[in-house]
Amino acid sequence: MCGWHRASENNLEERVKTLSRKVRARATREEATVACVFVHEDFDRPDGPDYVTAQNRVQAALERNLGTAHYVLAVAEVESWMLLFPHALSAVTSAWKVPGKYRNKDTGRLADPKRVLTSEVCKSGRRYRESDAPVIFERVVASRSYDSPSGSNRSWRRLRDDAATCCASHLRTGR
Ligand SMILES: [Zn+2]
Repeated sequence: MCGWHRASENNLEERVKTLSRKVRARATREEATVACVFVHEDFDRPDGPDYVTAQNRVQAALERNLGTAHYVLAVAEVESWMLLFPHALSAVTSAWKVPGKYRNKDTGRLADPKRVLTSEVCKSGRRYRESDAPVIFERVVASRSYDSPSGSNRSWRRLRDDAATCCASHLRTGR
């Protein structure tokens, strides 16, 4: 997914309708019922008032067309979430260390968390690649530390709230 939060009103509606058609077509093919849909993007800007506006606008469009859906918009990039879990980064590569100045902070305020990760966290050991993300988050899940991050990030909190809502309401009613 790319740039939903930047799309004009007409374009956004059109893209959501296209997504809805694809979701329904796949469900038909697989003889499945769609309980809910998650759409993830990076905001590419740090947290601020326009984050909430963008989040709400796309979320409303998804709900209009899909019923149950969650727009997961990471500020500024998904790497800001990884900085909340220093132990998970070190578990993937022991030389990776989150410097103290990034711990217990609002990582959503960082303008360029990917740069922090590549040039400050991963300055020893091998380089970080975007393809490392799933393994890093697997470590977060395995350690069950997702609700005890080292610091804060409004977009991570929102993802956790969305997941809780989904498990409590959407997955049950969708089956
Ligand atoms: Zn849901």
